[in-house]
Amino acid sequence: MSEVQERSEDPVYQNHIDGQPCAGAEGRQFKAVNPSTGRPWGSFVESGAADVDAAVHAARRALDGPWGRLSPTRRGRLMMAWGDKIAAHAETIARLESTQNGKLIGEMLAQARVVCDWLYYFGGLADKIEGRTIPLERRSVLNYTLREPLGVVGVIVPWNSPTFLTLMSCAPALAAGNTIVLKPSEVTSASAFELVRLAEAAGFPPGVINVVTGARAAGEALVDHPMVAKICFTGSDGAGRAIAARAGARLASCTLELGGKSPNIVFEDAPVDNAVAGILSGIFAAAGQTCIAGSRAYVHERIYDQVMERLVTRARAIRIGDPLAAGTQMGPAASAAQLHKNETMVARALEHGAALACGGERAKVPGFEGGYFYQPTILHRIPEGNPILQEEVFGPVLAITPFSSDDEAVALANGTRFGLAAGVWTSNFARAHTMARRLQAGTVWINTYRALAFNSPFGGYKDSGLGRVNGIESIDQFLQTKSVWCETSDEIQDPFVMKV
Ligand code: NAD
Repeated sequence: MSEVQERSEDPVYQNHIDGQPCAGAEGRQFKAVNPSTGRPWGSFVESGAADVDAAVHAARRALDGPWGRLSPTRRGRLMMAWGDKIAAHAETIARLESTQNGKLIGEMLAQARVVCDWLYYFGGLADKIEGRTIPLERRSVLNYTLREPLGVVGVIVPWNSPTFLTLMSCAPALAAGNTIVLKPSEVTSASAFELVRLAEAAGFPPGVINVVTGARAAGEALVDHPMVAKICFTGSDGAGRAIAARAGARLASCTLELGGKSPNIVFEDAPVDNAVAGILSGIFAAAGQTCIAGSRAYVHERIYDQVMERLVTRARAIRIGDPLAAGTQMGPAASAAQLHKNETMVARALEHGAALACGGERAKVPGFEGGYFYQPTILHRIPEGNPILQEEVFGPVLAITPFSSDDEAVALANGTRFGLAAGVWTSNFARAHTMARRLQAGTVWINTYRALAFNSPFGGYKDSGLGRVNGIESIDQFLQTKSVWCETSDEIQDPFVMKV
């Protein structure tokens, strides 16, 4: 890795600007922590406004220079070559990710292997961005549109799936011809350097993708920079709101991929085994640290007891441990702060009258005593208005509630400010598609859960976000349209009358 200055147990990374490792202007650093051991892992630049400014200028130079001069076809080919490189280095990336965020090596490997599909798909779209000719009333004018990149895009990502989420933002932005300044999460900064190294090895000109590390202040400097045309943010709704306000103050646009409180609704005619597996994967995979976590389950009263019993039995049997070891089913929370959040939100749910069906404590993992492990937790008998039904935990905490009619299920499922995703479990197709229309969520899964694809749009209703990533329309969010008017007649027009 070009940014690693010394090969030791505790690597030191620098920013990556204009194709070069770059020390921070203020000389400040921060340390990341391995969540499986609680020990420090790697030092990174605590970037300030001067570092962000250098990265944005590099991105602008690349846009006005080699990247802007590339044909869309060549641009797309470079993206595809980058995809090949990432696929070939998937194991290195997955190991870095797992060490940083404690997610299972198998899950990180699957993500690192599949992200090339995003680059193949959006690379293929780069030369299919077309304008239109407009049939004006004024026949003497040729009017056509050009679809142009916005400029420098600031990409800010969270820690839970760093490579995957970085590519979901960067692929459409690059296909549209923009250049990037990436600010990874302070919890998981290292894999961004591997990604940019591979991009440049694939032939990307320096400056097309720049990486500045740091926490909130570095993100704020990027959002505030007057040369950043757009922010593509993935993270919590609180940060998304703050970013949208700052960007709005200088009229920069935002795509916001935010959090959720997604429901799984299980009807009495559901394939119960599949529904139980879907609920378990929705909330306990990745220790619940996914934006699409199915953190609420609504189960028809006729099958409630049997679903509950199976969920509790299987939750208790989940193998918690070293995320790098084969056979582990759940790793630690990604940080001490996240572990603390799990604990305080479960305590608050209990104070507000919920009952604990299983879990609710830290998990002990021999050999990993300093790690941030938390038990798979199921809360039930939850009074209406309990905060656990409204607020995102981002941990392995399921809130389960019975319902008795379709209308009640819809009202309960839609009764939060979020709207990222929802799962519907039924063997009745009319009911399934009616539910799909009635649920306020950007993604509805019927008899499946936690599935994404590069070509299917993804994003939130309500407080879960603005705009979409993935799918053909996501590219529109990184383009602006220019209307070109060309008079073909020599006739001299009246200068005091508007031409329509
Ligand atoms: P976070 O909002 O705390 O941080 C996300 C990123 O934003 C980090 O890089 C952080 O440094 C930066 N940041 C934080 N505050 C900022 C500010 N005011 N200005 C600029 N930058 C700022 O989120 P997190 O804890 O890293 O991630 C968990 C959250 O991300 C959850 O809410 C989860 O649901 C959400 N998420 C959403 C999606 C999606 O696609 N919708 C995907 C994954 C995670």
